[in-house]
Amino acid sequence: MNVSDTLVRALHQTLLQIAEIKSQIERGPRQIKAAQIQVDSAKDALQKCRDTIKQKRMDADRKQLQLREREAKIHDWEGKMNSATNNREFQAIKEQIAADTQANNVLSDEILEILEENDSLQISLQDYEEKLKLIEVDKVKIDSTVAKRIATLKEELIRVEGNLAGTEKELSSDFMADYKRLVSSRGEDAMAPLDDASCGGCNTGLTPRILDKLRMGQPTLCPSCGRLIYRPE
Ligand SMILES: [Zn+2]
Repeated sequence: MNVSDTLVRALHQTLLQIAEIKSQIERGPRQIKAAQIQVDSAKDALQKCRDTIKQKRMDADRKQLQLREREAKIHDWEGKMNSATNNREFQAIKEQIAADTQANNVLSDEILEILEENDSLQISLQDYEEKLKLIEVDKVKIDSTVAKRIATLKEELIRVEGNLAGTEKELSSDFMADYKRLVSSRGEDAMAPLDDASCGGCNTGLTPRILDKLRMGQPTLCPSCGRLIYRPE
């Protein structure tokens, strides 16, 4: 490899820098998506609460209707009670009225219970509405923060890619082909610093011959992982 380790080190550091900037840029849409999920789930919770209130209100209305129908029936029975022709008929009507009155008592308790539940659901509904508002405000902030950060990172990326292009110009023409091949397939993972007597990429121990070359400042391919190894600073 006809290249100095100073140059390989500089290339690798710049490639790592570019990879880091790119990964930060990629985080942006993920953060926006996560914030959107928060908004969506807050909307869902609010809607579910609204639906439950509506359902309970319908339940209460239905039971109210039933209650009124039974009240009318009781009223009818009371009329019939006066025109009963014998005691047995009178008692039967009286029992019927008692049973219907009892059923209506149960029903009106149930209605009351539903209305009380709906009162507390109304409070929850307000909480859900307030929570949604806060989350939506957050979402707007996150969107704008992320957009600004991405714009800055993209400028930074252009600058660092410019640095890389400048450093690559220093590469000899015979090393250039090897370099391009390595970097096009592995990106910033194409190189690794020497770690004590091992490859800093795959941790494989290196032979004395390779270590000698590295100590002389000659970057060398790792026989195990194929990364271009160089001396760290
Ligand atoms: Zn290796």
